[in-house]
Amino acid sequence: MKNERIYNFNPGPAALPLPVLEEIQQEFLNFKGSGMSVVETSHRSKQFEEVLEDAVNRTKRLLKIDDRYKVVFVQGGASMQFAMVPMNLLGNDESADYVNTGTWSTKAIKEAQNLSKLVRTAASSEDRNFCYIPKNIDFSKKAAYVHITSNNTIKGTQWAEFPDTKGVPIVSDMSSDIMSRPLDMSKFGLVYAGAQKNIGPAGVCMAIIREDLLDRAPAGIPTMLDYKTYVEKNSLYNTPPCFGIYTIQLVLKWIEETIGGLEKMAEINRQKGELIYSLIDGGDFYRGTADPDSRSLMNVTFRLPDEDLEKRFIASAAENGFGGLKGHRSVGGCRASIYNAATLKAVEDLTAFMKDFAEKNG
Ligand SMILES: *Cc1c(COP(=O)(O)O)cnc(C)c1O
Repeated sequence: MKNERIYNFNPGPAALPLPVLEEIQQEFLNFKGSGMSVVETSHRSKQFEEVLEDAVNRTKRLLKIDDRYKVVFVQGGASMQFAMVPMNLLGNDESADYVNTGTWSTKAIKEAQNLSKLVRTAASSEDRNFCYIPKNIDFSKKAAYVHITSNNTIKGTQWAEFPDTKGVPIVSDMSSDIMSRPLDMSKFGLVYAGAQKNIGPAGVCMAIIREDLLDRAPAGIPTMLDYKTYVEKNSLYNTPPCFGIYTIQLVLKWIEETIGGLEKMAEINRQKGELIYSLIDGGDFYRGTADPDSRSLMNVTFRLPDEDLEKRFIASAAENGFGGLKGHRSVGGCRASIYNAATLKAVEDLTAFMKDFAEKNG
Protein backbone atom coordinates (compact mmCIF):
# COMPACT_ATOMS: atom_id res chain seq x y z
CA MET A 1 0.00 0.00 0.00
CA LYS A 2 1.21 3.48 -0.85
CA ASN A 3 1.44 5.96 1.99
CA GLU A 4 1.54 9.01 -0.20
CA ARG A 5 -1.22 10.46 -2.31
CA ILE A 6 -0.58 10.22 -6.00
CA TYR A 7 -1.12 12.78 -8.73
CA ASN A 8 -4.59 11.74 -9.75
CA PHE A 9 -5.57 12.28 -13.39
CA ASN A 10 -8.63 10.03 -13.26
CA PRO A 11 -11.48 10.97 -15.60
CA GLY A 12 -14.24 10.43 -13.01
CA PRO A 13 -14.71 9.93 -10.21
CA ALA A 14 -11.80 12.30 -10.17
CA ALA A 15 -9.45 14.21 -7.90
CA LEU A 16 -10.92 16.64 -5.40
CA PRO A 17 -9.00 19.59 -3.95
CA LEU A 18 -6.84 18.41 -1.07
CA PRO A 19 -7.96 21.24 1.26
CA VAL A 20 -11.56 20.08 0.73
CA LEU A 21 -10.71 16.47 1.58
CA GLU A 22 -8.89 17.66 4.68
CA GLU A 23 -11.84 19.76 5.75
CA ILE A 24 -14.15 16.76 5.32
CA GLN A 25 -11.76 14.61 7.33
CA GLN A 26 -11.46 17.18 10.04
CA GLU A 27 -15.17 17.60 10.64
CA PHE A 28 -16.22 14.10 9.71
CA LEU A 29 -16.91 12.84 13.23
CA ASN A 30 -18.50 16.01 14.52
CA PHE A 31 -20.29 18.01 11.87
CA LYS A 32 -20.65 21.68 12.81
CA GLY A 33 -20.92 20.90 16.50
CA SER A 34 -23.85 18.52 16.03
CA GLY A 35 -22.01 15.71 17.80
CA MET A 36 -22.47 13.46 14.77
CA SER A 37 -21.16 12.99 11.28
CA VAL A 38 -22.66 14.71 8.24
CA VAL A 39 -23.63 11.23 7.02
CA GLU A 40 -25.59 10.66 10.24
CA THR A 41 -27.36 14.02 10.30
CA SER A 42 -30.96 14.67 9.29
CA HIS A 43 -31.38 16.29 5.90
CA ARG A 44 -33.92 18.52 7.62
CA SER A 45 -31.53 19.67 10.33
CA LYS A 46 -30.51 23.29 10.56
CA GLN A 47 -26.89 22.32 9.89
CA PHE A 48 -27.69 20.55 6.65
CA GLU A 49 -30.12 23.18 5.44
CA GLU A 50 -27.33 25.74 5.80
CA VAL A 51 -25.06 23.58 3.67
CA LEU A 52 -27.69 23.24 0.97
CA GLU A 53 -28.46 26.94 0.95
CA ASP A 54 -24.78 27.81 0.81
CA ALA A 55 -24.19 25.43 -2.10
CA VAL A 56 -27.04 27.05 -4.04
CA ASN A 57 -25.93 30.60 -3.23
CA ARG A 58 -22.31 29.95 -4.14
CA THR A 59 -23.40 28.41 -7.44
CA LYS A 60 -25.44 31.52 -8.21
CA ARG A 61 -22.59 33.85 -7.29
CA LEU A 62 -19.92 31.92 -9.16
CA LEU A 63 -21.99 31.69 -12.34
CA LYS A 64 -23.46 35.19 -11.85
CA ILE A 65 -26.99 33.97 -12.37
CA ASP A 66 -30.15 35.73 -11.34
CA ASP A 67 -33.19 34.41 -9.48
CA ARG A 68 -34.84 33.11 -12.63
CA TYR A 69 -32.40 30.23 -12.46
CA LYS A 70 -33.05 27.45 -9.95
CA VAL A 71 -30.23 25.27 -8.68
CA VAL A 72 -31.23 21.74 -7.70
CA PHE A 73 -29.56 18.47 -6.80
CA VAL A 74 -30.77 15.25 -8.37
CA GLN A 75 -29.63 11.64 -8.13
CA GLY A 76 -29.24 9.29 -11.08
CA GLY A 77 -26.20 11.00 -12.57
CA ALA A 78 -25.92 12.88 -15.82
CA SER A 79 -27.26 9.75 -17.51
CA MET A 80 -30.67 10.24 -15.91
CA GLN A 81 -30.69 13.83 -17.14
CA PHE A 82 -30.51 12.44 -20.68
CA ALA A 83 -34.08 11.24 -20.06
CA MET A 84 -35.31 13.97 -17.72
CA VAL A 85 -34.50 16.75 -20.20
CA PRO A 86 -36.74 15.55 -23.05
CA MET A 87 -39.34 14.24 -20.62
CA ASN A 88 -39.73 17.71 -19.08
CA LEU A 89 -38.91 20.08 -21.92
CA LEU A 90 -39.98 18.44 -25.15
CA GLY A 91 -43.66 18.21 -26.05
CA ASN A 92 -44.88 15.40 -28.29
CA ASP A 93 -45.56 17.73 -31.21
CA GLU A 94 -42.18 19.46 -30.94
CA SER A 95 -38.62 18.70 -31.95
CA ALA A 96 -35.28 19.45 -30.30
CA ASP A 97 -31.90 19.98 -31.95
CA TYR A 98 -28.98 17.94 -30.66
CA VAL A 99 -25.31 18.34 -31.52
CA ASN A 100 -23.55 15.00 -31.49
CA THR A 101 -19.95 15.40 -30.33
CA GLY A 102 -19.28 11.94 -28.93
CA THR A 103 -20.31 9.14 -26.62
CA TRP A 104 -22.31 11.20 -24.16
CA SER A 105 -24.18 13.23 -26.78
CA THR A 106 -24.98 10.00 -28.61
CA LYS A 107 -26.46 8.59 -25.42
CA ALA A 108 -28.46 11.76 -24.81
CA ILE A 109 -29.96 11.50 -28.30
CA LYS A 110 -30.75 7.83 -27.88
CA GLU A 111 -32.45 8.41 -24.56
CA ALA A 112 -34.74 11.07 -26.06
CA GLN A 113 -35.58 8.68 -28.89
CA ASN A 114 -36.34 5.94 -26.38
CA LEU A 115 -39.06 8.20 -25.06
CA SER A 116 -40.44 8.48 -28.62
CA LYS A 117 -39.47 12.14 -28.70
CA LEU A 118 -38.61 13.86 -31.93
CA VAL A 119 -34.97 14.91 -32.07
CA ARG A 120 -32.91 16.20 -34.95
CA THR A 121 -29.15 15.85 -35.05
CA ALA A 122 -28.40 19.40 -36.13
CA ALA A 123 -24.66 18.68 -36.44
CA SER A 124 -22.27 15.86 -35.72
CA SER A 125 -18.52 15.35 -35.71
CA GLU A 126 -18.82 11.60 -36.14
CA ASP A 127 -17.35 11.82 -39.66
CA ARG A 128 -13.91 12.34 -38.11
CA ASN A 129 -14.34 10.22 -35.03
CA PHE A 130 -15.56 13.17 -32.93
CA CYS A 131 -12.21 14.95 -32.94
CA TYR A 132 -13.73 18.43 -33.36
CA ILE A 133 -16.60 20.69 -32.38
CA PRO A 134 -18.89 21.49 -35.34
CA LYS A 135 -19.11 25.13 -36.45
CA ASN A 136 -21.70 27.24 -38.29
CA ILE A 137 -24.56 25.00 -37.35
CA ASP A 138 -27.96 25.67 -38.84
CA PHE A 139 -30.26 25.35 -35.87
CA SER A 140 -34.00 25.28 -36.28
CA LYS A 141 -35.72 28.37 -34.91
CA LYS A 142 -38.59 26.11 -33.97
CA ALA A 143 -36.52 23.74 -31.85
CA ALA A 144 -37.76 23.39 -28.28
CA TYR A 145 -34.12 23.52 -27.19
CA VAL A 146 -30.61 22.88 -28.48
CA HIS A 147 -28.70 20.19 -26.61
CA ILE A 148 -24.91 20.21 -26.52
CA THR A 149 -22.17 18.54 -24.48
CA SER A 150 -19.90 21.41 -23.45
CA ASN A 151 -16.91 19.14 -22.78
CA ASN A 152 -16.43 15.72 -24.28
CA THR A 153 -14.71 13.76 -21.56
CA ILE A 154 -13.82 10.77 -23.73
CA LYS A 155 -12.81 12.40 -27.01
CA GLY A 156 -11.07 15.38 -25.39
CA THR A 157 -12.94 18.19 -27.12
CA GLN A 158 -14.65 21.24 -25.64
CA TRP A 159 -16.80 24.09 -26.90
CA ALA A 160 -14.56 27.16 -26.62
CA GLU A 161 -17.53 29.38 -27.44
CA PHE A 162 -21.19 28.54 -27.37
CA PRO A 163 -23.28 28.73 -30.54
CA ASP A 164 -25.77 31.42 -31.41
CA THR A 165 -29.11 29.64 -31.34
CA LYS A 166 -31.23 32.72 -32.09
CA GLY A 167 -32.95 32.67 -28.76
CA VAL A 168 -33.61 28.94 -28.57
CA PRO A 169 -32.47 27.93 -25.07
CA ILE A 170 -29.36 25.79 -24.91
CA VAL A 171 -29.39 22.73 -22.70
CA SER A 172 -25.88 21.59 -21.88
CA ASP A 173 -24.37 18.54 -20.31
CA MET A 174 -21.54 20.21 -18.39
CA SER A 175 -20.55 17.18 -16.34
CA SER A 176 -16.87 17.52 -17.09
CA ASP A 177 -16.35 21.27 -17.22
CA ILE A 178 -18.87 22.98 -14.96
CA MET A 179 -17.17 25.58 -12.75
CA SER A 180 -13.97 25.42 -14.80
CA ARG A 181 -14.55 28.84 -16.39
CA PRO A 182 -17.00 31.74 -16.27
CA LEU A 183 -20.25 31.16 -18.08
CA ASP A 184 -22.76 33.46 -19.74
CA MET A 185 -25.86 31.70 -18.48
CA SER A 186 -28.20 33.93 -20.45
CA LYS A 187 -27.87 31.56 -23.43
CA PHE A 188 -28.82 28.53 -21.39
CA GLY A 189 -32.18 27.21 -20.32
CA LEU A 190 -30.78 24.25 -18.45
CA VAL A 191 -27.35 23.05 -17.45
CA TYR A 192 -26.65 19.78 -15.72
CA ALA A 193 -23.53 18.12 -14.39
CA GLY A 194 -22.80 14.84 -12.68
CA ALA A 195 -20.64 15.99 -9.78
CA GLN A 196 -17.91 13.38 -9.94
CA LYS A 197 -15.73 15.05 -12.57
CA ASN A 198 -15.28 18.57 -11.37
CA ILE A 199 -17.28 19.45 -8.27
CA GLY A 200 -17.80 16.52 -5.95
CA PRO A 201 -18.29 12.80 -5.45
CA ALA A 202 -20.47 10.45 -7.46
CA GLY A 203 -24.14 10.17 -6.56
CA VAL A 204 -25.33 13.70 -7.13
CA CYS A 205 -26.02 15.73 -10.23
CA MET A 206 -26.37 19.50 -10.21
CA ALA A 207 -29.03 20.96 -12.47
CA ILE A 208 -29.64 24.65 -13.09
CA ILE A 209 -32.91 25.43 -14.80
CA ARG A 210 -34.53 28.67 -15.90
CA GLU A 211 -37.90 28.88 -14.25
CA ASP A 212 -40.00 29.51 -17.36
CA LEU A 213 -38.97 26.08 -18.66
CA LEU A 214 -40.53 24.42 -15.65
CA ASP A 215 -44.00 24.99 -17.07
CA ARG A 216 -43.28 22.79 -20.07
CA ALA A 217 -43.45 19.51 -18.19
CA PRO A 218 -46.51 17.47 -19.11
CA ALA A 219 -48.84 16.28 -16.38
CA GLY A 220 -48.33 12.79 -15.12
CA ILE A 221 -44.58 12.39 -15.23
CA PRO A 222 -43.14 10.64 -12.19
CA THR A 223 -42.62 12.97 -9.25
CA MET A 224 -38.93 12.18 -8.96
CA LEU A 225 -38.35 12.88 -12.66
CA ASP A 226 -40.08 16.26 -12.62
CA TYR A 227 -37.76 19.27 -12.17
CA LYS A 228 -40.63 21.13 -10.46
CA THR A 229 -40.46 18.69 -7.56
CA TYR A 230 -36.86 19.65 -6.92
CA VAL A 231 -37.45 23.37 -7.37
CA GLU A 232 -40.58 23.54 -5.26
CA LYS A 233 -39.14 21.45 -2.45
CA ASN A 234 -35.63 22.96 -2.67
CA SER A 235 -34.13 19.52 -3.44
CA LEU A 236 -35.68 18.18 -0.23
CA TYR A 237 -38.72 16.30 -1.50
CA ASN A 238 -37.08 13.10 -0.36
CA THR A 239 -33.72 12.41 1.26
CA PRO A 240 -31.16 14.06 -0.99
CA PRO A 241 -27.58 12.81 -1.47
CA CYS A 242 -26.43 14.71 1.62
CA PHE A 243 -22.76 13.83 1.57
CA GLY A 244 -22.46 14.75 -2.09
CA ILE A 245 -24.16 18.11 -1.63
CA TYR A 246 -21.96 18.83 1.38
CA THR A 247 -18.82 18.06 -0.64
CA ILE A 248 -20.00 20.25 -3.51
CA GLN A 249 -20.56 23.08 -1.06
CA LEU A 250 -16.98 22.78 0.17
CA VAL A 251 -15.60 22.62 -3.38
CA LEU A 252 -17.54 25.75 -4.32
CA LYS A 253 -16.27 27.50 -1.20
CA TRP A 254 -12.73 26.51 -2.24
CA ILE A 255 -13.27 27.95 -5.73
CA GLU A 256 -14.68 31.19 -4.35
CA GLU A 257 -12.47 31.78 -1.35
CA THR A 258 -9.17 30.02 -2.05
CA ILE A 259 -8.93 30.23 -5.84
CA GLY A 260 -10.78 33.56 -6.08
CA GLY A 261 -13.62 32.78 -8.49
CA LEU A 262 -14.12 31.39 -11.96
CA GLU A 263 -11.95 33.92 -13.83
CA LYS A 264 -9.01 32.81 -11.69
CA MET A 265 -9.98 29.17 -12.04
CA ALA A 266 -10.12 29.54 -15.82
CA GLU A 267 -6.71 31.22 -15.87
CA ILE A 268 -5.15 28.33 -13.95
CA ASN A 269 -6.86 25.83 -16.24
CA ARG A 270 -5.60 27.72 -19.28
CA GLN A 271 -2.03 27.60 -17.95
CA LYS A 272 -2.29 23.87 -17.31
CA GLY A 273 -3.63 23.22 -20.81
CA GLU A 274 -0.92 25.38 -22.35
CA LEU A 275 1.80 23.42 -20.53
CA ILE A 276 0.68 20.01 -21.64
CA TYR A 277 -0.46 20.87 -25.16
CA SER A 278 2.74 22.73 -25.94
CA LEU A 279 4.71 19.68 -24.89
CA ILE A 280 2.53 17.48 -27.12
CA ASP A 281 2.91 19.89 -30.06
CA GLY A 282 6.62 20.43 -29.45
CA GLY A 283 7.74 17.07 -30.83
CA ASP A 284 6.46 14.12 -32.77
CA PHE A 285 6.45 11.56 -29.97
CA TYR A 286 3.04 12.53 -28.58
CA ARG A 287 0.15 13.22 -30.90
CA GLY A 288 -2.97 15.05 -29.72
CA THR A 289 -6.17 13.42 -30.96
CA ALA A 290 -8.42 16.50 -31.01
CA ASP A 291 -8.23 19.34 -33.53
CA PRO A 292 -6.32 22.24 -31.91
CA ASP A 293 -9.26 24.66 -32.03
CA SER A 294 -11.52 22.11 -30.33
CA ARG A 295 -9.21 20.87 -27.62
CA SER A 296 -10.45 20.36 -24.10
CA LEU A 297 -8.78 22.08 -21.17
CA MET A 298 -10.17 19.34 -18.95
CA ASN A 299 -9.38 16.07 -20.73
CA VAL A 300 -6.18 15.97 -22.74
CA THR A 301 -6.29 12.99 -25.12
CA PHE A 302 -3.15 11.85 -26.89
CA ARG A 303 -1.43 8.92 -28.53
CA LEU A 304 2.14 7.65 -28.54
CA PRO A 305 3.86 6.15 -31.59
CA ASP A 306 2.46 2.67 -30.90
CA GLU A 307 0.25 0.79 -28.45
CA ASP A 308 3.14 -0.98 -26.80
CA LEU A 309 4.73 2.35 -25.92
CA GLU A 310 1.37 3.56 -24.63
CA LYS A 311 1.20 0.60 -22.26
CA ARG A 312 4.72 1.25 -21.05
CA PHE A 313 4.02 4.96 -20.68
CA ILE A 314 0.96 4.32 -18.50
CA ALA A 315 2.81 1.75 -16.40
CA SER A 316 5.88 3.92 -15.96
CA ALA A 317 3.71 6.92 -15.10
CA ALA A 318 1.94 4.89 -12.43
CA GLU A 319 5.28 3.80 -10.94
CA ASN A 320 6.25 7.45 -10.74
CA GLY A 321 3.08 8.50 -8.98
CA PHE A 322 0.94 9.68 -11.91
CA GLY A 323 -2.37 7.79 -11.98
CA GLY A 324 -5.36 7.62 -14.29
CA LEU A 325 -3.65 8.26 -17.63
CA LYS A 326 -5.25 5.45 -19.59
CA GLY A 327 -7.66 6.56 -22.32
CA HIS A 328 -11.30 5.51 -22.17
CA ARG A 329 -11.76 1.82 -22.95
CA SER A 330 -13.75 2.70 -26.06
CA VAL A 331 -10.94 4.73 -27.67
CA GLY A 332 -7.63 3.54 -26.18
CA GLY A 333 -4.59 5.81 -26.09
CA CYS A 334 -3.87 8.13 -23.19
CA ARG A 335 -5.82 10.81 -21.42
CA ALA A 336 -4.83 13.22 -18.68
CA SER A 337 -7.91 14.60 -16.96
CA ILE A 338 -6.83 17.91 -15.53
CA TYR A 339 -9.97 19.17 -13.85
CA ASN A 340 -10.02 22.05 -11.37
CA ALA A 341 -8.47 19.95 -8.61
CA ALA A 342 -5.39 19.03 -10.68
CA THR A 343 -2.90 21.65 -9.53
CA LEU A 344 -0.52 23.56 -11.76
CA LYS A 345 2.30 21.74 -9.96
CA ALA A 346 0.74 18.36 -10.79
CA VAL A 347 0.60 19.27 -14.46
CA GLU A 348 4.15 20.69 -14.42
CA ASP A 349 5.43 17.47 -12.93
CA LEU A 350 3.42 15.36 -15.38
CA THR A 351 4.77 17.38 -18.30
CA ALA A 352 8.33 16.93 -17.03
CA PHE A 353 7.73 13.19 -16.76
CA MET A 354 6.29 13.07 -20.30
CA LYS A 355 9.27 14.99 -21.65
CA ASP A 356 11.67 12.61 -19.98
CA PHE A 357 9.76 9.55 -21.21
CA ALA A 358 9.82 10.88 -24.78
CA GLU A 359 13.56 11.50 -24.62
CA LYS A 360 14.24 7.97 -23.36
CA ASN A 361 11.88 6.21 -25.75
CA GLY A 362 11.62 8.46 -28.81
C1 LIG B 1 -19.25 11.09 -17.02
C2 LIG B 1 -20.16 11.79 -17.94
C3 LIG B 1 -21.51 11.43 -18.05
C4 LIG B 1 -22.12 10.27 -17.29
O1 LIG B 1 -22.28 10.66 -15.97
P1 LIG B 1 -23.00 9.71 -14.90
O2 LIG B 1 -23.07 10.60 -13.73
O3 LIG B 1 -22.11 8.53 -14.73
O4 LIG B 1 -24.32 9.33 -15.44
C5 LIG B 1 -22.31 12.16 -18.90
N1 LIG B 1 -21.82 13.20 -19.60
C6 LIG B 1 -20.53 13.57 -19.53
C7 LIG B 1 -20.04 14.72 -20.33
C8 LIG B 1 -19.66 12.87 -18.69
O5 LIG B 1 -18.37 13.25 -18.61
